[in-house]
Amino acid sequence: MDFEPVIGLEVHAQLTTRSKLFCGCSTEFNAPANIHVCPVCSGHPGTLPVLNAKAVEHAIKAALALDCKVNMRSIFARKNYFYPDLPKGYQITQFDLPICQHGHLDIEVGSSVKRVGITRIHMEEDAGKSVHAQGYSLVNLNRAATPLIEIVSEPDLRSAEEAGAYLRKLRAVLMYLDVCDGNMQEGNFRCDANVSVRPVGTEKFGTRAEIKNVNSFRFVEKAIEYEINRQAQLIQSGGKVVQETRTYDSGKGVTISMRSKEEAHDYRYFPEPDLIPLVIAPALLEAIRAKLPELPDQRRDRLIREMGIPAYDATVITSSRRLAEFFETAVSHCGNAKAVSNWVMGEMLRLLKLDEREVDDLQMKPDELGALIRMIDAGLISNTIGKTVFEEMYKTGSSPEAIVKEKGLMQISDTSAILLTIDKVIAANAAQVAEYRSGKDKLMGFFVGQVMKQMSGKANPGVVNELLKQKLGAKS
Ligand code: ADP
Ligand code: MG
Ligand code: ZN
Repeated sequence: MDFEPVIGLEVHAQLTTRSKLFCGCSTEFNAPANIHVCPVCSGHPGTLPVLNAKAVEHAIKAALALDCKVNMRSIFARKNYFYPDLPKGYQITQFDLPICQHGHLDIEVGSSVKRVGITRIHMEEDAGKSVHAQGYSLVNLNRAATPLIEIVSEPDLRSAEEAGAYLRKLRAVLMYLDVCDGNMQEGNFRCDANVSVRPVGTEKFGTRAEIKNVNSFRFVEKAIEYEINRQAQLIQSGGKVVQETRTYDSGKGVTISMRSKEEAHDYRYFPEPDLIPLVIAPALLEAIRAKLPELPDQRRDRLIREMGIPAYDATVITSSRRLAEFFETAVSHCGNAKAVSNWVMGEMLRLLKLDEREVDDLQMKPDELGALIRMIDAGLISNTIGKTVFEEMYKTGSSPEAIVKEKGLMQISDTSAILLTIDKVIAANAAQVAEYRSGKDKLMGFFVGQVMKQMSGKANPGVVNELLKQKLGAKS
């Protein structure tokens, strides 16, 4: 029997506010333990929460970007459970009536576009952090009550690849909006994956397992892949999938059961009595809508339209806001969009991938890539030498002018130096010369290659071609 996977994702994104969701404490990440803590976020009796307006704005921005319906009135609720990193004994979240519902996100899978439903986005506070040591545990409340949005997708995804594409696109959208910094290592963008399988051709969803908090795109995809196979094999061999929560062991590459549905908490949700309903003024909604920045799809369409780069290039370049910014700045410094796109899509992404780094880690500045392209376009260096210069720029962050000067890479257009080399090449390859003269035009490439090689790639290829044609007896 063949099975079709059904996947729905719950993403927690930390909002980029300076202060926490219900108090003035800082949300700074790498601070010493327990310094960003006050009576409110540490749950002292008698304290009252005050909602952070910026967090609401950010949630609305995300909602609009994901084409959600914004509920003009939403409700905060208490989700009750006991855990040492939850000082109040409950988490303030939204339950029955979240701030937004019914949106969607378009993702690219292969060469087609797929629309994935967004069930809801709700606001909530994060918990603190438990640090487990040998024989004891420590609690750090710096993160307690930092603002999150949870974005819940419809069970519309049908493969690990689609889930990965959805997560990457969602993260990019939130980063374009400046509402989340998307740092997965720091836990600012994390995901629970709900996975089930059903026999191909059937409608009814199978029983799902929820894989908790996987912290990289690659691991989410691997965890989902593993889970799909596990469930399919289980059913194939006569077993039954049970509804449960699982974790992913990235070392072993397997998912492991944490708790079954029977062991699930009863959270005893009830409306938060310390907060009035969140009512959004229509004017605020419209003001946020009017200020909404350009999103990845819009930027992609603009780059295709205005810069004439291929759709594929535009999709890759706009998949990250930083990359798109780098691209556009470089183009503004050289005016050659296709060349910038080639360098970015080729050398730059290749080297970044090799080093597992991101655009933000680049030492190379976009205006310097622009300068490199200007030098190539002006014939000062060849494209091949450009590659050497590019790698050096990538490694050291030096300017292309400095590298070319220091390494003596300036292209030679001086005809006398080139003619000298051409004479040598012709003398050393009499057989090929005879063949060329008897009509084997294709050998031109061989001669150009020989001359370039002898001149360490520094000869101007246009000039070499021209002079070779003359010397070899002007074929064609
Ligand atoms: P809970 O609150 O228990 O996590 P929800 O009904 O809110 O449950 O669903 C959470 C996520 O699980 C959603 O993203 C939804 O799309 C997904 N989901 C629901 N049913 C299934 C299923 N049978 N298979 C895969 N995913 C599912
Ligand atoms: Mg869930
Ligand atoms: Zn506080």
